[in-house]
Amino acid sequence: MTAPATRAVTVRVPAKVNVQLAVGAARPDGFHDLANVFLAVSLFDEVTATPAEALTVSCAGPDADQVPLDRSNLAARAAELLAARHGIEPAVHLHIAKNIPVAGGMAGGSADGAAALLACDTLWGLDSPREELLDICAELGSDVPFSFVGGAALGTGRGELLVPVEAGTFHWVFAVADGGLSTPAVFREFDRLAEAEGRAVPEPVASPVLLAALASGDAGALGASLTNDLQAAAVSLRPSLAATLDAGLGGGAVAALVSGSGPTTAFLVADEVAAAKVVAALEGAGVCRATRVAVGPVPGAVVLSA
Ligand code: ATP
Repeated sequence: MTAPATRAVTVRVPAKVNVQLAVGAARPDGFHDLANVFLAVSLFDEVTATPAEALTVSCAGPDADQVPLDRSNLAARAAELLAARHGIEPAVHLHIAKNIPVAGGMAGGSADGAAALLACDTLWGLDSPREELLDICAELGSDVPFSFVGGAALGTGRGELLVPVEAGTFHWVFAVADGGLSTPAVFREFDRLAEAEGRAVPEPVASPVLLAALASGDAGALGASLTNDLQAAAVSLRPSLAATLDAGLGGGAVAALVSGSGPTTAFLVADEVAAAKVVAALEGAGVCRATRVAVGPVPGAVVLSA
């Protein structure tokens, strides 16, 4: 154990986009097996942990009013789980500087859980082995381990069994929608559509073509192989997303897809110049609340200052 930090510890953590999201049929426990290819992108939240009398959470940023500040916040749950493992009190204040869209399909809550875990581990001087922190991440939620490790990875199971994969650098534009979509509601819509269409849902498998395209850094190749099995369900629940996807493609995006369970939409672009054109097209068409430009892959949770 190292000496506990007495000052604030700030951890920066990225959002993710799924370049492949393959969804299997609903399991008896209600979960779905997934084959998920995650890419961490340069849209970041920052979580700052400071010593306090008791566990408290605050949040600032454009969507801050939609973030729960009680113990249901994944950052708070991370602090509680870590403290419980070590038999200590979670006496910490967690401040979230929120830039990742809330309920946007970019794993913002998961990102804050991963960031809070690393921030508290550092603040409390626990020096937990990485495997132990990853165990807690998996307990917090299926996307949390990826938020912790970042980069590019293939996730199987519920998404939490991770293997790093190679990735070149890609440029993205994200269109932030008004309001969120509930991830469980999108999965329910996926099940409903499959049943209504009498479609057998195949086993989810990672696409070798997509993995090769990701490794190559060739935006055209990746654009041709992006897939999201939740896209039809997200568009079914939020039909206006179709116009957003069209507007970005009309602006010259190489490819467009719904990010995870949506409603954020993701546009793969050739470079920064193309990104500016897609931003202009999306904003000109008035089909989103805000746009963000990002690159990926980027590292996972990192301590900025302690
Ligand atoms: P995913 O892509 O992992 O499915 P998401 O990006 O769609 O998730 P989140 O931003 O993680 O969605 O938020 C989903 C819900 O989680 C929110 O509506 C909110 O009630 C809850 N939540 C808990 N902790 C947080 C947090 N730190 N930040 C945002 N939302 C949180």
